[in-house]
Amino acid sequence: NKKYDYLVVGSGLFGATFTHEMMKAGKRCLVIDKRDHQGGNIHCKNIEGINVHWYGAHIFHTNDKMLWDYVNQFAEFNRYTNSPIANFKGELYNLPFNMNTFYKLWGTKTPEEARAEIARQIEHLEISEPKNLEEQAQKLVGTDIYEKLIKHYTEKQWGKKATELPAFIIKRLPVRFTYDNNYFNDKYQGIPIGGYNKIIEGLLQNCEVKLNVDFFDDIDHWKSMADKIVFTGKIDAYFNFQYGELEYRSLTYELEVHDTENYQGNAVMNFTDGETPYTRVYEHKHFEFGTQPKTVITKEYPVQETRNAEPYYPVNDEKNMAMLKKYQDLAEQEPNVIFGGRLAEYRYYDMHQVIASALAKSRNELKLSKT
Ligand code: FAD
Repeated sequence: NKKYDYLVVGSGLFGATFTHEMMKAGKRCLVIDKRDHQGGNIHCKNIEGINVHWYGAHIFHTNDKMLWDYVNQFAEFNRYTNSPIANFKGELYNLPFNMNTFYKLWGTKTPEEARAEIARQIEHLEISEPKNLEEQAQKLVGTDIYEKLIKHYTEKQWGKKATELPAFIIKRLPVRFTYDNNYFNDKYQGIPIGGYNKIIEGLLQNCEVKLNVDFFDDIDHWKSMADKIVFTGKIDAYFNFQYGELEYRSLTYELEVHDTENYQGNAVMNFTDGETPYTRVYEHKHFEFGTQPKTVITKEYPVQETRNAEPYYPVNDEKNMAMLKKYQDLAEQEPNVIFGGRLAEYRYYDMHQVIASALAKSRNELKLSKT
């Protein structure tokens, strides 16, 4: 009889939610994480009294009342609404593309005028089947928005010309004919008061968590500890990269503390020109309506060489998806291991989606353990 029912590798939102549900059902769990903190990518560091989103800005949003209630068990959420500002060479525009953006660009005041302006710009393009991202974007929003707000930003993000990028990357673009700067359409949105760490602390309350431990440093030891493993790290790493490395897009962050109360007046500013090397600047205090005397900002830079960088966004092209399929086949045959979360499934998950997935997998597991 092993000491634990489950060894959970990774204390991110997937591992923490899964563990919480198992503990509630009376299972014995041990969580390990190779980082020096729990919470995975939603971890916040307190700097100057401000919750700094250490792995990039995180805004919780969902349409699912059950998931909203689930996270609200652990923290109260504030009324933060994501309304990024685009900065194109010092000209400021509201995002997502909406009547405020159109008025600033063209002086159009009614939805009819704005629609007519976009139609006018698209008319001459004669794009039926877009061959690349440039044509796709132009077809959707016309040439002005494409040139000022999409082209350079996307090229910085991907390190490639928009004409060399596949059209599927932007199948849809949020275009709204109301004066509404709310980036998300979801019913529920906000930031946990006290930061995301509160959610993870609530989920992992009463659970043993060992930090600074890498599962791969002593696989046999960790496997001997529990009947089952829940693995939330990289699936290709678990199988020793035997079919190759799955690619990720990455980002780096540069943190600055400014001796001013308010640096840019908004939590998120996108720099959409080609010259500014960073893509976004976050001013963390605005996620929580902070009134601290100083402010902390993060500049976000895209990274092209991703080998040693943090894996952030899976690259869902044919090559990587074919490789993933091979790893998934191996995973299915791996006894007593549950693979879950963004790295083990090589899938972009928003927070609410990763919670939903962990809840479904834990329920399934509890059903199995009863039979
Ligand atoms: P992770 O949080 O990555 O957790 C995995 C954990 O496993 C890590 O702590 C890692 O250290 C640990 N681990 C890995 N390998 C090992 C090993 N070998 N041994 C021990 N431990 C290991 N979602 C939203 O809903 N709203 C947003 O605004 C939003 N913004 C985002 C911005 C960025 C830049 C990114 C990249 C993501 C964003 N997300 C957002 C998504 C959100 O971050 C994820 O849904 C969530 O963090 C996934 O949790 P996870 O547990 O699957 O993975």
